[in-house]
Amino acid sequence: MTTALMIEILTGDITKLEVDAIVNAANSTLLGGGGVDGAIHAAAGPLLHDYCRTLKGCRCGEAKLSPGFDVPARRIIHTVGPVWKDGTHYEAALLKACYRSSFELALQYQVRTIAFPAISTGAYGYPKQEAAEIAVAAMLEYQHRFEQIIACCFSERDAVLYRSTLQALRGG
Ligand code: ADP
Repeated sequence: MTTALMIEILTGDITKLEVDAIVNAANSTLLGGGGVDGAIHAAAGPLLHDYCRTLKGCRCGEAKLSPGFDVPARRIIHTVGPVWKDGTHYEAALLKACYRSSFELALQYQVRTIAFPAISTGAYGYPKQEAAEIAVAAMLEYQHRFEQIIACCFSERDAVLYRSTLQALRGG
């Protein structure tokens, strides 16, 4: 049997995806917030909040795991992206670290299908093009170790950006 290796770019709500793990763009408290974090906590239910309390926070660039509770995904990987300042505060290295930490944690738990939001590109203000390049490069680096990697964009405009970035980084 051959394994389907693929990176899929979707537009939609990450909380609805039936995958082994969804990634949350959390803040360092891990206790919920706005944007995708708020949506994931609302969909997963209050047990997620109780569980996240036991994780004792997470540093920027690192990742921690919880069950999915009431979302269809079995697990949630919480990572903390950098707040964009001006690009000279290790933002790129920290964003890369978010993707790597999330993938490595997923591998430890035999996750085969995983979906990511565009980490740091909402309230944290990371420029979308630069963030997409980092996200897609990490996905290409790990694609052979997963059955399916989904970039879950929240707008069609973001999805178009991801598609062109994927094409450019794959070399046409
Ligand atoms: P950050 O604080 O890391 O910037 P945000 O949640 O503010 O996190 O935004 C990260 C990205 O997640 C943005 O592109 C935003 O449009 C997107 N987003 C918000 N809600 C959802 C959702 N339910 N599913 C997928 N992506 C979402």
